[in-house]
Amino acid sequence: DFTTPLELVRSSSLYTVHTPVPAGHDYFDEGLAHKYLNEFPGRLGITWQDLMNMGRENPDSQDRFSMSVFALNTCQEANGVSWLHGEVSKKMFAGVWKGYSWEESHVGYVTNGVHMPTWAASEWKSFYAEKLGDQVFSHQSDPKAWEGIFKVKDEEIWNMRTTMKNKFINFVKRDFKAKWLANQGDPSAVIKILERINPNALIIGFARRFATYKRAHLLFTDLDRLARIVNNEQFPVQFIFSGKAHPADGAGQGLIKRITEISRMPQFQGKIIFLEDYNMIVAKRLVTGVDIWLNTPTRPLEASGTSGEKAEMNGVLNFSVLDGWWYEGYRLDEKAGWALTDKRTFTDQSQQDKLDAATIYSMLENEIIPLYFAKNSKGYSPEWIQYIKRSIGHIAPQYTMQRMIEDYIERFYEPEAKRFDKISADSFKLAKEIAAWKEKVAAAWDGVKVLEVSTDRDLSQHTNSGEAFTTTIKIDANGLADDLALELVIDKVHDNQESRVGSVPFKVVSKDGNIVTFQLADKLRDPGVFRYSYRLYPSNPELPHRQDFAFVRWI
Ligand SMILES: *Cc1c(COP(=O)(O)O)cnc(C)c1O
Repeated sequence: DFTTPLELVRSSSLYTVHTPVPAGHDYFDEGLAHKYLNEFPGRLGITWQDLMNMGRENPDSQDRFSMSVFALNTCQEANGVSWLHGEVSKKMFAGVWKGYSWEESHVGYVTNGVHMPTWAASEWKSFYAEKLGDQVFSHQSDPKAWEGIFKVKDEEIWNMRTTMKNKFINFVKRDFKAKWLANQGDPSAVIKILERINPNALIIGFARRFATYKRAHLLFTDLDRLARIVNNEQFPVQFIFSGKAHPADGAGQGLIKRITEISRMPQFQGKIIFLEDYNMIVAKRLVTGVDIWLNTPTRPLEASGTSGEKAEMNGVLNFSVLDGWWYEGYRLDEKAGWALTDKRTFTDQSQQDKLDAATIYSMLENEIIPLYFAKNSKGYSPEWIQYIKRSIGHIAPQYTMQRMIEDYIERFYEPEAKRFDKISADSFKLAKEIAAWKEKVAAAWDGVKVLEVSTDRDLSQHTNSGEAFTTTIKIDANGLADDLALELVIDKVHDNQESRVGSVPFKVVSKDGNIVTFQLADKLRDPGVFRYSYRLYPSNPELPHRQDFAFVRWI
């Protein structure tokens, strides 16, 4: 049959969603789906409509077939790739489980991490081995393993940074000179740019895919102000950009063109540099070689972001919008990097961009640049070194691949593996029972009837906290007398918006054949305006969560 194997597949599958950007979710017209999937329903013993409905947010509608909805229907668990993205995903998928609010969603999260042996420079790996011991590699995710960084002499950290910065500058001079000479025409301009790259400047890097939500243009909102920042002789600042746009993303390509043009303006020559042919090698040089890693996505579209995590393990500080991983990372230690506020103040995106750009300039001018250039007689800023130590000691451990794998195992792989074993035992005994139970409930559900609702307090009226109430509800269970549960669902109403507070279960007080009587005697707990409703649902302790079989009936 189809349903028992589906239980097995579900119990051993996890859907990791990677983006809230709509273009990142595939949808297919029914006609196109039919062309390729036509033969499957027959082989699976289901109808064409059954198959299509597995990929539709609204079954039996004309919805296109959504790969994400299909994944949600065939995987027991689902996760986003950072805490914030988990919340965004709960909202994005709320329509799949009608009757449950996004706050009740089973969708979880594991924040992405990066592979330290790949992304920490070999110089840093030797440094960590020497200063912290080899244990740091086997215990990457344990902040204790990194504590030794606070005992390292400031000068040694600074020497590491200087070494990596020079290595990066040499890489630019060597590898990009030829390319620029070929592309830019005027050799003297190229030489001038190369000569201007200054190891004593505060170097800020920005490199990633040029998807428009990443707002690579943000820094260029006020060119006069930017020109003043980069041309300050006392406190020199340089920006290095790199990235590629999707071949079909004209807007993203336009951004690259614009940045290249700006980099050729006289006031920005050698101060704003765009490196072509972005790839993992360029990425690694950048995240190990600059002083600051900048990220300016439109919140909350950066599901996780990982390049900033690479920067952390190389003593490079993050300055980023509080989105994706940095929403969590910055909070671990606010003296280990910088954040743009998470309060979205404008609904108009261009206004928001202007505000965010102004914030970036003023944070650079007032906080970041002064901190970097507060140099002592030895040529470095002790406070800057503190930031680096804190970011390596407090933030880097949480964004390693090791921590990520541990989270996946603990939150998803192990619980699913256990449940898979349980429902497969004895020739799939429990899987068969669950599949049969779901079919039984589905067949009887529409025949379940509410016979009577009686309450000694009308909960739809404004009521005060502390007041007691008793509600009794009588149901004709249509053969499901042992399979039903009822709950009081509470929503808080605030500014005309409802948010789900939670639910309180009713007790079964009598069962007489098909007639089940539920009762709830409780007190209103909190002051304020609430909406109360009664939700009936099929209950089976063998299900992993409510969204596994999300039938509900509002009373
Ligand atoms: C790490 C990396 C990315 C991802 O960077 P984000 O900041 O998450 O966009 C993209 N491309 C390359 C080559 C990378 O190394």
